[in-house]
Amino acid sequence: MSNQISGKELARTLDKLLALGSKTSTSHHHPIPLKNSSYNNNNYSSVIKNFTPSSRINGIYTPLQTRPASPYTLHAPIDFDGLSWPSIGAREIKEESSDEAKLREQRIANSIKDILKELGEDVDREGLLETPERYARAMLFFTKGYQDDIRDVIKRAVFEEDHDEMVVVKDIDIYSLCEHHLVPFFGKCHIAYIPNKKVLGLSKLARLAEMYSRRFQVQERLTKQIAMAVSEILKPLGVAVVIECTHMCMVSRGVQKTGSSTTTSCMLGCFRGQQKTRDEFLTLLNRR
Ligand SMILES: [Zn+2]
Repeated sequence: MSNQISGKELARTLDKLLALGSKTSTSHHHPIPLKNSSYNNNNYSSVIKNFTPSSRINGIYTPLQTRPASPYTLHAPIDFDGLSWPSIGAREIKEESSDEAKLREQRIANSIKDILKELGEDVDREGLLETPERYARAMLFFTKGYQDDIRDVIKRAVFEEDHDEMVVVKDIDIYSLCEHHLVPFFGKCHIAYIPNKKVLGLSKLARLAEMYSRRFQVQERLTKQIAMAVSEILKPLGVAVVIECTHMCMVSRGVQKTGSSTTTSCMLGCFRGQQKTRDEFLTLLNRR
């Protein structure tokens, strides 16, 4: 299998994780065992199990350590190979040859054909002839964020800078898929952080939002993942992420509340601890 890693690489990763773990207080590690781990190697999972997510910013603990978190947020934000909370098949997809990729696309297309038949369609009529293949390619695009390597995403855009004022990037367009209905949700993402001697190239914040939205998501997790990634990459004094989205599963079916939108937020560090900082951010968003 292509998603196995060499012994040498594993040893290096373990060293790195142990070093990270030793910096955090062991009394705060999460009591809930990890589920859905994609690794069978016992050593590796036991190290991951003792890893504390870097949710302590500026001495303030975030709720990630005070209430049960999802298996996603219990993992460190960035894996040994640069992937960030990948799906279990992400490594295999990332490393497959173009022939293997073609076969995968064809398998997805065949399944879609079955679904169309079950829906009573004539899959041989002209309008639907290429639809299964088109849909397969579209789905692979909508979920490509699992395979993104965070090191490629941020490239060399972390800069040392003696700037300690709030950095805000507003109105980042996001398009994602609701994992409960596999239909789109889309809207705007606003990201703010207060640097601690490190800043990130501004376009990279949008790239991070893109990386996590091109997946099967729930809006709450998407919000948290963007915040945790910024926090991990920059170790800033605080991070705030607000996302406002329209969910197709809400507006086009069921209760049919057209025009309704959902807002989620994740505040870490000084955004969480200081009302003044939070207010400044919300003012910059024109929310007060
Ligand atoms: Zn939904």
